[in-house]
Amino acid sequence: MWHEERLFINGELREASNGATFENINPATEEVIGVSADASEADFGEALAAARDAFDESEWSTNLELRLRCLGQLHEALENHVDELTAITVAEVGATQMACSSIQVVEPLKIIPFYMDVAKGYEWSTDLGVTETLGGQCQRWFEKEPVGVLAAITPWNVPTQVNLAKIIPALAAGCCVVLKPAPDTPWTGLALGKLIAENTDFPPGVVNVISAADPAAGSYLTNDHRVDMISFTGSTATGRKVMEAASANITKVFLELGGKSALIALDDVDDFAMVAATAAFGMATVCGQGCALSTRILLPRSRYDEAVDAIAAMMAAVPPGDPTDSATMMGPLINASQRDRVERYVQSAIDEGARIVCGGTRPDDLEHGFFYEPTLIADVENSMKVGQEEIFGPVLVAIPFDDDDEAAMIANDSIYGLSGAVFSGDEQRALKVAKQIRTGTMSVNGGVWYGADVPFGGFKQSGIGREMGIAGFEEHLETKAYSKPV
Ligand code: NAD
Repeated sequence: MWHEERLFINGELREASNGATFENINPATEEVIGVSADASEADFGEALAAARDAFDESEWSTNLELRLRCLGQLHEALENHVDELTAITVAEVGATQMACSSIQVVEPLKIIPFYMDVAKGYEWSTDLGVTETLGGQCQRWFEKEPVGVLAAITPWNVPTQVNLAKIIPALAAGCCVVLKPAPDTPWTGLALGKLIAENTDFPPGVVNVISAADPAAGSYLTNDHRVDMISFTGSTATGRKVMEAASANITKVFLELGGKSALIALDDVDDFAMVAATAAFGMATVCGQGCALSTRILLPRSRYDEAVDAIAAMMAAVPPGDPTDSATMMGPLINASQRDRVERYVQSAIDEGARIVCGGTRPDDLEHGFFYEPTLIADVENSMKVGQEEIFGPVLVAIPFDDDDEAAMIANDSIYGLSGAVFSGDEQRALKVAKQIRTGTMSVNGGVWYGADVPFGGFKQSGIGREMGIAGFEEHLETKAYSKPV
């Protein structure tokens, strides 16, 4: 299988300095598909030194034309390797072919031309005119500059999407980056190093990609004074550690964290088919391992049984299966410990008095792989563990409500605020509820908010900052004001 297992440091593809490697496991077969370089602390240090030098010494931060040329070359290389990227994404993430043709591989590539256009058209300098200030006449203006060296730390669930959403706006803005993908999905990250090395004019050190077996090896980046900004996507628990480490050098943090989003179906929906399809197919796309998925399904008490039946029927239509089969709609969980975690949550729901409507077990027909049946849990109270905590597996919880205000109140009763959805026969009524939810994105009656131009991020403990869109570009800029006497 086409892949890269070497680190990409200072423009070179190379082994870890101590020669160490770690295994890459296919979650659908439990087989070892190969290895990746296991970077040492010294390798992290070299990657940071290279990024620092590239930012401080090369023309990358000031030469927009060079940046656009290199990003265009990377985009072309990625477009030419969609099949190879799909193959490694299926193998190391357990992603389905369908997911690869959308959110896992194909859609994220659009991030590159989007940010090339943004950088090209951006107002890098803004004139504030001449004014009388503190007794003198001065001409004032401000300029935007890249933040500097970016440490990008990413999770395993949609790795190409997150890797590109992290590094592309930063590179377009003029930053230099060290990307550390998650240990479960190193190849999708290291492939970027390979494609850059073999197809582009990126100056050495502008992009570095570094894999390591120890998940916490990312801390070599978060507490280093050479880093100007940490861009982290992962769990809220790790986000807290990242923020704590960043405090040592007051390093800027940009955090995309967990979610426990609510889909609200109001009592005037025609039927629950659309609601059920949105809930079940969304969950299936990444086997429930999506930060922005609606995993709490809030249903009107007056039609609760009808809605639960519709959702259960739709979930039965997405059984887990072999992700190499193009008809499969849901693959496995990423690893055994993630499956154990899901099982613990399902047991906690049973212990707290909730009812398993469907699923709740591993599939009988799949001997290998970290598969789990799509699971719907009913009679859930929002205060239960499964109502409050991110499960990150194919598990939806159905919570009843009595009126629109109570639905909004339940949706907001969460430490998270990443996404959500509202369905109603009356669009205005749906919008009224959507506006009450403290969350970064909302879908109204099935609207799809995902896209390179749409700012994405969280309220509350779902994060700090916005990825994608113009906002995602400006996260990587500093503002410097100037004045001169006239
Ligand atoms: P995680 O927090 O365990 O790990 C994320 C990354 O951080 C990995 O690369 C890991 O190696 C690294 N890491 C772990 N400990 C670290 C430390 N002490 N210092 C620095 N880096 C460290 O998350 P995960 O299990 O890989 O991914 C699942 C989580 O990611 C879920 O909570 C999900 O909601 C979240 N997520 C959020 C978004 C978003 O955009 N908001 C997108 C995808 C995933």
